Amino acid sequence: MKLANYVYGEWVEGAGEGTALRDPVTGEQLVTVSSDGIDIGRALDFARRTGGPALRAQGYEARAAMLDAIAKLLAANRAEYFDIALRNSGATEADSGFDVDGAIFTLKTYARAGKTLGAARHLKEGGRAPLAKTDAFQGQHFLMPLTGVAVFINAFNFPAWGLWEKAAPALLAGVPVLVKPATPTAWLTQRMVEDVVKAGILPAGALSIVCGSARDLLDHVEECDVVSFTGSADTAARMRTHPNVVARSVRVNIEADSVNSAILGPDARPGAAEFDLAVKEIVREMTIKAGQKCTAIRRILAPADVARSLADAVASKLAGCKVGNPRNEAVRVGPLVSKAQQAAALEGIAKLREECETVFGGDPAFEPVDAHGEDSAFVQPTLLYCDKGLDARFVHDVEVFGPAATILPYADTADAIAIARRGRGSLVASVYSGDAAFLGELVPGIADLHGRVMVVDAAVGSQHTGHGNVMPNCLHGGPGRAGGGEELGGLRALAMYHRRVVVQGGPALLDALSRDAADAALLDA
Ligand code: NAP
Repeated sequence: MKLANYVYGEWVEGAGEGTALRDPVTGEQLVTVSSDGIDIGRALDFARRTGGPALRAQGYEARAAMLDAIAKLLAANRAEYFDIALRNSGATEADSGFDVDGAIFTLKTYARAGKTLGAARHLKEGGRAPLAKTDAFQGQHFLMPLTGVAVFINAFNFPAWGLWEKAAPALLAGVPVLVKPATPTAWLTQRMVEDVVKAGILPAGALSIVCGSARDLLDHVEECDVVSFTGSADTAARMRTHPNVVARSVRVNIEADSVNSAILGPDARPGAAEFDLAVKEIVREMTIKAGQKCTAIRRILAPADVARSLADAVASKLAGCKVGNPRNEAVRVGPLVSKAQQAAALEGIAKLREECETVFGGDPAFEPVDAHGEDSAFVQPTLLYCDKGLDARFVHDVEVFGPAATILPYADTADAIAIARRGRGSLVASVYSGDAAFLGELVPGIADLHGRVMVVDAAVGSQHTGHGNVMPNCLHGGPGRAGGGEELGGLRALAMYHRRVVVQGGPALLDALSRDAADAALLDA
């Protein structure tokens, strides 16, 4: 079966044989995708001319109701999505929960928050700026919804959440969406779009999908479009410097890879709650989605006299995690999504081993449960230990996109800060400590190179939301290597799909424009 693209209000099959999507456990071909012959320029134009005006004819509250209807529809079809994720990504129940339930939760959060903006059609920011000696001439800042398309170029690891965490704020803002999912796992995204289109929840042109390579996509974007990219740093650099994007100053948001850290404070010693909480979270991060999360812990910073005990504790828990075919109920860790990803991860691990000791795993020939090594894409969870600190050549730069992490002992707080910062920009660092003096130095010391810092102590305990878990009401994104983008953060995300404009004129005009506006301060509420 070849998955159809949904463009210009029609289901259109791409030309040619297409690219095969496979089951990463058995190697079986499942479906094919192709974007050959799709007129991308026409697809974007249809979204701009048809989808955008129809969405913006309604206010925020009405669009929030559409998000709610989408969330309900996806929840009703949840079992089918879990099945596609199992077949196309080798996802365990827990892995699918992260992606599919995460998508539904995010949509519901935006549906709820969007209602607070009421029937307004745009946003008014701040008060009137006096511009003359009398009130006759004033300025008012507005945030106006963009009249273009939100173009999403997504990564393979979150086919569900990756679409809806971006689409929820875009649609709420009144901006139509065209998504190009990553080819290896495009099936789940395509099925969700098909279900939403068939349910008639959104106006025509509000949601389009192109499956396959679509390499000419950025040739057709315009000034009022937004390109939101999630993927590797290499591809991100190509997006950012695309001649048409540069020439037309198209807004681009980049969520790229990063080498995130978990940091144990001086008080996180064996026997302390902070130590146990760190061990649990490190193992969870290494195993959920087989480590294929942009936010996953890659470097583990521990006080030098604790690092070996930590390595032993994490290794003994990893030894209890069954790796193999997720159709076997005992299995906790599934495969990577493709042979290509397996090869890339094994290559990365081999590179890290040039300067690291292997504490656990790292056997390329290990035997997964209920699967054949040569057909499947498994990588054994691998814990490494590197005592080279800032002198390490690869550990701070190589992102193994799989179940691998490296323990790095640090000497003192300044050393921990320097090592965390050596990631050159990360999505998240989690810190396990209740030591106020340490936190008072460490958190500000790393904050400007991280999008999120999660601090867990004994009082927070198991109530924390997780190192790798992105909450829709909190910022997602990170500086530097992580791409410099900002997503989510509740209604703050709507700013990306609006343009700030100041209208200067008489009070009657500004009053009239303000009548249709909600207060932009609500975005920060
Ligand atoms: P990728 O190879 O960079 O691909 C990402 C997307 O870009 C895919 O849809 C790909 O399409 C598309 N693409 C590649 N070259 C293109 C071009 N010249 N023009 C238009 N589209 C192009 O990344 P990936 O392997 O899918 O994803 C893994 C990476 O994503 C990891 O490094 C991970 O850290 C990062 N990630 C980051 C976040 C975050 O939120 N920061 C979230 C998830 C993943 P095809 O698949 O068709 O090639």
